[in-house]
Amino acid sequence: MERVYIGLGSNLADPAEQLRNALKALGQLAHSRLVGVSSFYASDSLLPGQPRFTNAVAALDSELEPLALLDALQAIELDQGRERHERWGPRTLDLDILLFGERLIDEPRLKVPHYHLHARPFVLYPLAELAPELLLADGRSLDQLLADCPFVGLERL
Ligand code: ATP
Ligand code: CA
Ligand code: CA
Repeated sequence: MERVYIGLGSNLADPAEQLRNALKALGQLAHSRLVGVSSFYASDSLLPGQPRFTNAVAALDSELEPLALLDALQAIELDQGRERHERWGPRTLDLDILLFGERLIDEPRLKVPHYHLHARPFVLYPLAELAPELLLADGRSLDQLLADCPFVGLERL
């Protein structure tokens, strides 16, 4: 069993409802247990001209292997109408594996820790609600990352 942190995001088709539905699906994942959910946060899209995002982070204890979990997350995205057009385009649901226990994964389909984890306030602040004492594999603490990533443009819902 490993502790996995999953980033959820949506900026289409009632984002908060998308996140609630995704959390229901995560709660029903085989060989896994949903053990925590952060508050929801709103922020402007990283790309101009897109609707605002709603984001949250979930903590999951899972016996799934990382690629099997990624498959399951992508199935949930598809189930909720995710279409892939341009990179970083608007989406009904995005589920990213932020951390998977202490693993470092570098495969074509899966990089963990998620490569933008340390630079995104809409990931770090919800993560801090669930795991304030978190230490990354490279020795950095979540506190250090937060200090370099001000709470700007983020609205706690
Ligand atoms: P970003 O990665 O910058 O947050 P995105 O979430 O919009 O962008 P997607 O289009 O959802 O990117 O995903 C592109 C690919 O990223 C996926 O098909 C998946 O194989 C790969 N990927 C690599 N690492 C991860 C990870 N840690 N979690 C989820 N997907 C990942
Ligand atoms: Ca993403
Ligand atoms: Ca993604």
